[in-house]
Amino acid sequence: MNMMAIACGDTAILVDAGVMFPEPELLGVDLIIPDLRSLQQYRIQALVLTHGHEDHIGAVPHVLPFVHGPVYGTPLTIALVESKFDERDEEVRKRLVRVRPRERVTVGAFTIEFLRVTHSMPDCVALAIETPHGVIVHTGDFKIDQTPIDGEHVDFHRIAQLGASGVLALFADSTNIDRKGFTGSEVEVIDAFEEVFTGADGKIVVALFASSLYRMQILVDLAAQFDRRVAFVGRGVIENSEIAQRLGYLRIPAGVQIRDSEVRNFPSQDVVCICTGSQGEPQAALPRIAIDDHRHVRLNPEDVVVFSAREIPGNEKAIGRVMNHVARRGAEVIYEGIKHVHVSGHGSEEELKLMLSLVRPRYFVPIHGEYRQLARHARVAARVSAGTQVLLAENGDVIRFDAEGGRIADKVPSGRILIDGTRSGEVGDEVLRDRRHLSGDGLVVPVVAIGRQSGVLEETPDVITRGFVLDARTEALLKEIPGLLSATIEGASVEERTDPGLIKEKIRVDLQRFFRKRSGLRPLVLPVIMEI
Ligand SMILES: [Zn+2]
Ligand SMILES: [Zn+2]
Repeated sequence: MNMMAIACGDTAILVDAGVMFPEPELLGVDLIIPDLRSLQQYRIQALVLTHGHEDHIGAVPHVLPFVHGPVYGTPLTIALVESKFDERDEEVRKRLVRVRPRERVTVGAFTIEFLRVTHSMPDCVALAIETPHGVIVHTGDFKIDQTPIDGEHVDFHRIAQLGASGVLALFADSTNIDRKGFTGSEVEVIDAFEEVFTGADGKIVVALFASSLYRMQILVDLAAQFDRRVAFVGRGVIENSEIAQRLGYLRIPAGVQIRDSEVRNFPSQDVVCICTGSQGEPQAALPRIAIDDHRHVRLNPEDVVVFSAREIPGNEKAIGRVMNHVARRGAEVIYEGIKHVHVSGHGSEEELKLMLSLVRPRYFVPIHGEYRQLARHARVAARVSAGTQVLLAENGDVIRFDAEGGRIADKVPSGRILIDGTRSGEVGDEVLRDRRHLSGDGLVVPVVAIGRQSGVLEETPDVITRGFVLDARTEALLKEIPGLLSATIEGASVEERTDPGLIKEKIRVDLQRFFRKRSGLRPLVLPVIMEI
């Protein structure tokens, strides 16, 4: 949920507007965006974006009403933002401004220069913001990749120049400060994938983040070299690969790409599938493929499935379950711990030190990371340069630079806003709590006892409701639920039935559809699965 406001006199800009994805306990919440209340005290004249990751651009549609001016970003970043808006929304499209590295734009009292950095996707920039009180450098997310896939290097020259002429404050990515040494180049995964391509007798199925465009390029190039076809499977990778191809950030030789629906027409040893679902998301491509429930792609014992992404903390269990399902299909599972099939996009300690050495700021503010990482980055900075003063700020802190120097001067409401994407409205914390118990639409809890091994329904399901209006019509509906649950469970595969996470999701989806269709109600459905 990265977002920062910079203001001076009448000028105010925002840097990035990201989202977070909710943990499973946040029922009915699709997205988390930063609290925007404190923005009302400024007249924000521009939104400046560092790169196209969701944790930096995901909240743009929600933040745009607070911005009275353009949105600046590199061509890929802007294309990814554009895909969040209606194609016919001319008003928004006119405000999206494409900038190139080393380009400068003036917004009120600020001049913003865009500086190329390397990260896990193309077209990422750091910002040098010239203010009346000095230059602020904001790194965005970065690592130092000296052999970038697209040949676009970190703009060391300009960063050093800025450092030489004096920088007031450096705001730098702290995500990987607790890793020693250097993170490594994106090309480092090529060796491991070469081994996979050499050894695989069947399909190669790779799950990754939809934004991992460098990784996609590596896979496409290897596929061409090993005479395989590439299919993108899952909405996120299909959309992003199309955008990247259109803009020239992903190059696929003629004849290499096939549609997901064509996968079955090719011998499996001739195919590579690039999929969504690296985090075990139940509706994404790989988790569906893993339980034999995908429209186009099936796994066979000779296939290899590669998880080419970081496990986001909290998702380990869901990912582990998907790996188990893949193994049950007989296919081989490969992940970061087995082969070097993933490399981080964030710089490790030595890269962060190098940035500090080049910029030599008067003030240093560690950003992007948990508080413990910010604190560690602060200690590292103190070792790099005794002359730099560290300001260790938390979300909501207001840092003021004036004649007396730099300091944390104030605090504004920060926190988070929970968004229910199905209604495009905000969900306050209290509303969410209400919803958990007695929401306007009601709460329906089907209690289902399933045999742990057999996956067979052990008892007639029970249904508990709260805040659900009971009248003749709804009571008749409730009476149908046990039958519906039996049908859902019987209709599920043994793997779905014996996986509490999957069967829960299936029951939830089926029951919500049932209520919507039959009554127009949208109660919150919270299945409880008892394994017997
Ligand atoms: Zn990023
Ligand atoms: Zn980030």
